[in-house]
Amino acid sequence: MKEYYHSVTLRKDKCRGCTNCIKRCPTEAIRVRDGKARIIAERCIDCGECIRVCPYHAKVAVTDSLSSIEKFRYRIALPAPTLYGQFKNVDDIKVILAGLKKLGFDYVYEVARGADYVTAFVREALKDPNRKRPLISSACPAIVRLIQVRFPELIDNIVDVDSPMEIAAQLARTEFCEKHGVKPQEVGVFFITPCAAKMTSIRNPVGRKESSVDGAISIQEIYGPLYNQMNNLKEEDVVQMASPFGVGWANSGGACLSLGIDSYLAVDGIQNVIRVLEEIEDEKLTDLEYFEGLACPGGCVGGPLTVENGFVAKNRIRKLSEKAKGNPVSEKELQEVAQKIQWRLDEKIPPKPVMKLDDDIVEAMRKMEMIEEIYNSLPGLDCGSCGSPSCRTLAEDIVRGFASELDCVFKLREKVKQLAQEMIELSEKIPGGKKENERQE
Ligand code: SF4
Ligand code: SF4
Repeated sequence: MKEYYHSVTLRKDKCRGCTNCIKRCPTEAIRVRDGKARIIAERCIDCGECIRVCPYHAKVAVTDSLSSIEKFRYRIALPAPTLYGQFKNVDDIKVILAGLKKLGFDYVYEVARGADYVTAFVREALKDPNRKRPLISSACPAIVRLIQVRFPELIDNIVDVDSPMEIAAQLARTEFCEKHGVKPQEVGVFFITPCAAKMTSIRNPVGRKESSVDGAISIQEIYGPLYNQMNNLKEEDVVQMASPFGVGWANSGGACLSLGIDSYLAVDGIQNVIRVLEEIEDEKLTDLEYFEGLACPGGCVGGPLTVENGFVAKNRIRKLSEKAKGNPVSEKELQEVAQKIQWRLDEKIPPKPVMKLDDDIVEAMRKMEMIEEIYNSLPGLDCGSCGSPSCRTLAEDIVRGFASELDCVFKLREKVKQLAQEMIELSEKIPGGKKENERQE
């Protein structure tokens, strides 16, 4: 596996170097150099903000194609609950699940049911008074990566319960193999994803050695073919298992509501999440029990690979969740599931101090002083014309050796003016020049 796998990718041919994306990146992972954007792999958290803001569709998420399921003899679909909100006039989740089966999947397991199990495991974790508060949800991979890069001190707050997707994948594979007597490696498990971050977490997981999911197909890709199948259904041989709470996980606050506690905070949109994480870091929110941060606006319904307007999808999911038929997870069921699968994150989440200036503290301080000095000499307009997201970042890029002061258009103009003046003065000194003529007169 590559050290850095990213689903979010630049299509260089489409990039016009407009600099729209550089300011919206929450980890300052994009620069524009020589007229094209460049993603700094160590910093990118695959949140998909740049996909949303690029007017030329130069930022894309690489996911698996629908045809990739054909590599496997048996196929399982794991629909994210967000998928349910994409279709008009659907009043029973079963129609969507049955459509997936018609599309070529042998079994469909709702990730919303995985969410029901996560809720039950997190409830247990909350009973432990020795855990750091607030516990932070591990469900959004972009937020877990954000914490690794920008808030490493909060890593121990991340709850060590795996995501609904991973839990659903393990249960789906186990149940299918047991029922049909097939080998696990003959079965391909595919997540139907609203975002790039999930694709990245499958290829390059954090907190576990490898993912139980074999691939991810975007909601955008599957929407059309699935819609056609849903219109041609004759009978529906599927069971809808998730509870109303599990289905509600697609919306921001859904995970918190399912826990049935008072002291929680649910925040969506990556910039909003950053503001709250800063407060948690500053120990201003110590009375909170649980924090659910979702990178996308409105939660997963606002994922960059969805089709429907997030507000519309949210409303549909609310209505569909009221009709969901599954029950909450009982204690006995939870114990059985805990025996069957790896539900805990089995590796420590490592910090990624990519913002650090130097390992040596003295050297880091020296560089910090240089940054301050350069920053003070820059205009402070944060216009982005230099290709760095702010004047301060340009100063940092200069100190790191990735940029020069003349990347700043204002500095360049000053320099050109100064050179022009010097040229004029020199030209006046050469034989036949103005000054020379004046002297001779
Ligand atoms: S938003 Fe970023 S990726 Fe898109 S064209 Fe502008 S610079 Fe290029
Ligand atoms: S909020 Fe949901 S859709 Fe958006 S990055 Fe996080 S997990 Fe993906």
